[in-house]
Amino acid sequence: MTKAQFDIVIVGAGAAGLMAAIELSSAGKRVAVVEATSRTGGRMLCVQDKDTGTLVQLGAEFVHGSLPLTQSLLQQAGATTHQIEGSIWQRKEAGLQPQQDFIEGYDILEPKLKAVTTDLPVQEFIQRQLAGPQCANMRQEVQDYAEGYYAADTNRSSTLALAEELTGDDQPQYRIEGGYLQLAQYMEAQCREKGVQFFLGQPVEQIDWQRENVSVTTDKTLFKCSQLLVTVSLGVLQSGSIKFVPALPQYDAAAKALGYGHVVKINLLFRQAFWKRSTLVGGQNLADLQFLFSEESIPTWWSQHPLNTNILTGWLGGPKAQALQHASHDELLQLALSSLTKIFDLEPAYLWQDLKAAWSHNWSADPFFHGAYSYEVVDGATHQKTLQQPAEHTVYFAGEALHHGPELGTVEAALQSGKQAAAAMLSAGNEVPETTGQ
Ligand SMILES: Cc1cc2nc3c(=O)[nH]c(=O)nc-3n(C[C@H](O)[C@H](O)[C@H](O)COP(=O)(O)OP(=O)(O)OC[C@H]3O[C@@H](n4cnc5c(N)ncnc54)[C@H](O)[C@@H]3O)c2cc1C
Repeated sequence: MTKAQFDIVIVGAGAAGLMAAIELSSAGKRVAVVEATSRTGGRMLCVQDKDTGTLVQLGAEFVHGSLPLTQSLLQQAGATTHQIEGSIWQRKEAGLQPQQDFIEGYDILEPKLKAVTTDLPVQEFIQRQLAGPQCANMRQEVQDYAEGYYAADTNRSSTLALAEELTGDDQPQYRIEGGYLQLAQYMEAQCREKGVQFFLGQPVEQIDWQRENVSVTTDKTLFKCSQLLVTVSLGVLQSGSIKFVPALPQYDAAAKALGYGHVVKINLLFRQAFWKRSTLVGGQNLADLQFLFSEESIPTWWSQHPLNTNILTGWLGGPKAQALQHASHDELLQLALSSLTKIFDLEPAYLWQDLKAAWSHNWSADPFFHGAYSYEVVDGATHQKTLQQPAEHTVYFAGEALHHGPELGTVEAALQSGKQAAAAMLSAGNEVPETTGQ
């Protein structure tokens, strides 16, 4: 086994880990980033498919609003973003219909959401505030929205967080040309320029720690350092797959109390953008299709509009996605194509013939992610605070799940959390000049 000594070891090379590595190495620290997979970027996973020349965004895809860190880094990276636009459609019994907003009948919902002052699970809010047959559609829409957008289990997710998001100003959404790969590659290059050493393909198995004296073990390397930053996903923390010695029971309990959601995302490349042919879609004009909602197994779909591609992306979030965590790619593809066939009233064989390629990544079954992203639970801030406090100025945590605010679950949240953790680590270094290393 190789031995290696650093000032700081960062576990995980996702957005949080890379951000912290840039900050810490810029301050002169000798930093190692130890990453389980063979690549950097974590849930910013884009694959360039050589056969079709397609950039496939299997994880993060959208920039949700004007986000300071994401946009400043993208600017530094020379990456271009474009605003998402186009029409929203829904599949109802009567056929395809235009939809005005993500939640229809929002004028009924808004005052009820604004009246919530004490947090409660979204499911309880639905039952108490949206009772009665006149609210049947609204109940379903709120449930679908919380599950679809937040990947949330509504028995646990926060109504106040939902209210904040829905009653706030509408933020423009963007896509990055070249995908989040641009951001990951730029950040990795910045790290390497500043002397950060990457150890890829090395899952951390055990962390032995005392104040300012940490050993990090993989199957190849024993790392020694005085400060450690753990940026693995909440799902990995909840799974207990990394052993801490001594154990950190209060951090373990906090991680388990937070909400971590599941998602199925499948990208389909067709030979032609069939949805743009009005004769195939009931005479409707879907040329500028942005989002399409339905009640099928894979209910939500989007195109890359205004980019002119033949890709449709299917999405399912929340407990129904978790229930599919053992489904194979082929089973997901079957569900996706049968959903689209019903949504567009097509001949069953049509889409199979028109399909050129399909890609998915099973985030829930992946041992280095165990799910997709976090959602706000009732009283989540208390548990986040526990994880934000370092153990003995030595073991720190960061990642999208630790960020408190509406960006929770996003790349921006991970970047902000990584930056904050790095600042805390640097200031602890100033406060505690004496080290007790071996
Ligand atoms: C399908 C999907 C769609 C999404 N869509 C969007 C979107 O459109 N916009 C958006 O902003 N966000 C989106 N997100 C969320 C966003 O991708 C994440 O919030 C963000 O990338 C998380 O960054 P992170 O650094 O906190 O964690 P991660 O990216 O999970 O990084 C942690 C790293 O730790 C590594 N690791 C795990 N275990 C170990 C171990 N034992 N030893 C060493 N390393 C380990 C992992 O391999 C990973 O690289 C999406 C996520 C998914 C899954």
